[in-house]
Amino acid sequence: MIIGKSANNIYNRLYAIFNIALIAFICIFTLYQPVCAADNTSEQESWSVINGGSVKVYYEQGVDLQVISRKIAQRGLFFGGVFKSPPDGTPQEKIIYSADRLVQRIKDILGMYPQLPDLTIRIFVDRGGMNKEYFKMFGVVVDYDSYYIHAFRTIFTSEDDISVSVMAHELGHAIIDSYFSIVPPSKVSEVLASYVDAHLED
Ligand SMILES: [Zn+2]
Repeated sequence: MIIGKSANNIYNRLYAIFNIALIAFICIFTLYQPVCAADNTSEQESWSVINGGSVKVYYEQGVDLQVISRKIAQRGLFFGGVFKSPPDGTPQEKIIYSADRLVQRIKDILGMYPQLPDLTIRIFVDRGGMNKEYFKMFGVVVDYDSYYIHAFRTIFTSEDDISVSVMAHELGHAIIDSYFSIVPPSKVSEVLASYVDAHLED
């Protein structure tokens, strides 16, 4: 009898705990949803995309595309030497032209020709915003001028730091990591990515 009572008590307690947990879960879920939705909406509103090239280029609201198109074609020996300067057109067309030429050239330097269907570049207004994004993803404070995250197939850079060298280095990472079925150690990848930048004009 006593045993039955205590078993009954335990059952009642467990049932109560289950109910509280369920209510808490529903509350958190319903409260969290609008926050997520709001975040996504504001995030989507502040980003635009340039399609049509071998790389999808997202840029944050406030990024000056004229500046970007100039900065990623500013290496006379490469653009004008191995490849012609971007033809007249919109900044978007010039950016796609330069990115495509760089991808083509880096594949030739490395002798690696992986498919890059999802490759994306995200251009932030400034370095601070870009590094804040790294903190949001990994909880680590960094001060990078750019980085490539293979899990997202995405190069992160900013109007502050973007250049032909930055693009060559990070596109190098993307091509190297996509080529191997097992992503190589970061030291190996770093040596190869630096090699690409140094040999762009060879
Ligand atoms: Zn690197």
